[in-house]
Amino acid sequence: MTVLIVGAGPAGIAAAGVLAQHGVRPVLLDENATPGGQVWRRLRDEAALDTLLGGEAAHYRRIHAQFAALRPDIEYRPGTLAWAIDGGTLHIAGDGRAEALRFTRLILATGATDRTLPLPGWTLPGVFTLGGAQALLKGQGCAIGRRVVFCGASPLLYIAALQYVRMGVTVAAVLDTTPLHRKLMAAPRLLADARTLWRGVQAMAALRRRGVPIRSGVRLRQFVGEQRVQGVAFDTGGQTVTIGCDAVATGFGLKPETQLAELAGATLRFDPASRQFLPAADADGRCADALYVAGDGGAIGGADAAEASGALAAYAALADTGVAVDARARAALRREVQRRRRFQRGLADAFAWPAHWIAALPDATLLCRCEAITAGELREAVRRDLGVREVNRGKALTRCGMGRCQGRFCGLAAAELIAAEASIPLAGVGHLRAQAPVKPIARGMVGAA
Ligand SMILES: Cc1cc2nc3c(=O)[nH]c(=O)nc-3n(C[C@H](O)[C@H](O)[C@H](O)COP(=O)(O)OP(=O)(O)OC[C@H]3O[C@@H](n4cnc5c(N)ncnc54)[C@H](O)[C@@H]3O)c2cc1C
Repeated sequence: MTVLIVGAGPAGIAAAGVLAQHGVRPVLLDENATPGGQVWRRLRDEAALDTLLGGEAAHYRRIHAQFAALRPDIEYRPGTLAWAIDGGTLHIAGDGRAEALRFTRLILATGATDRTLPLPGWTLPGVFTLGGAQALLKGQGCAIGRRVVFCGASPLLYIAALQYVRMGVTVAAVLDTTPLHRKLMAAPRLLADARTLWRGVQAMAALRRRGVPIRSGVRLRQFVGEQRVQGVAFDTGGQTVTIGCDAVATGFGLKPETQLAELAGATLRFDPASRQFLPAADADGRCADALYVAGDGGAIGGADAAEASGALAAYAALADTGVAVDARARAALRREVQRRRRFQRGLADAFAWPAHWIAALPDATLLCRCEAITAGELREAVRRDLGVREVNRGKALTRCGMGRCQGRFCGLAAAELIAAEASIPLAGVGHLRAQAPVKPIARGMVGAA
């Protein structure tokens, strides 16, 4: 049996561990040069581990030790991008070479990326996504600026801001766009994972102790600057205020990386809670013949849910090929995933995606960065006779979502804008269909395998 796993984050590593325990040697590939995924991304400077991650450092050490022990029993291929799937073949590119790998089972543990919300000025140099700002700090050991504003709606706001402070960077403010009362309303669901909730509360308290101003319920207006970002303008208490900075980290939650799953035959279904289309899967992550999704790539659940769902997907792949597996372990893992995902749904309420801001975007705001399409241009395509009502049609007519990122960063906002402008439900606007290559590759790689 050839099992391929895409993604060496917590989900992919856990899946590889279960397969190896059962005598199967999986191929684990990741476009990153090192294992760990987003949350346990290998630090460039491990001497800074305890300072940067605080109480989370023990978990980092455990995952990397687990991976080192597993290494002889798996075929690990770092620096390898999976860019297409057809039938039972995965197309990969790495080290300047293209290859086509046949598989009998495929586990996709591709994680998530930042959910972005376009705002006036968001393309200015110095404006980073939240995850990008954190990835730079962890993976490259460098900060995005000397005086940074963290803004948006995400628990990562507080985690990443605290990591910046711990590394000696001035955090000018944390501007949380969700009001405090929404967090209180979400508290019953957040209690599904009291330990993680407590860690979040501690992160906020630590920022306050270090004198970082935290504002809740703000309305972001604009990233201000000429050649590069110099401030963030926002409404608070009936006034518009600008806070100065030389860099911004902004994020509005996460977006599962579903493109490979879709190419492999998964059906995507609209999830009203997150306002996104997610692969339809059973409790074990099974979503088509021989295809399994695990971790944040299936549904945002956090690092612990990712580990549990990775193990579940591997058990399912084994069971589906007739290998006897531990039924009690699987039942416990299913309960664990459900509990953690309940918590994440609470987080989605506590850090709400302000979809209504997109409807109010000024026409001149750039929506699709790759193709330089503005909100006004997409609106115009909706307004004309027989105008756009579906996001792929919007792409065909305006090129919004047709560039290098294939709509991974503008697709959600484009769909929200079409729904708002046409006054139709978001679910009916659909999602941008996945296209190979799912991420940019060198021209020579296509057709080379
Ligand atoms: C930027 C970012 C930062 C985050 N930071 C934190 C944090 O500090 N604390 C926290 O609790 N949670 C954090 N999260 C959430 C966290 O990522 C997850 O809950 C957890 O890491 C999910 O694990 P996973 O295994 O599902 O995916 P990930 O950890 O995201 O791992 C997925 C892996 O798949 C690889 N991959 C994806 N597509 C391909 C492809 N086509 N070909 C090859 N490889 C591919 C990626 O390189 C990545 O290594 C962060 C998320 C993001 C996006």
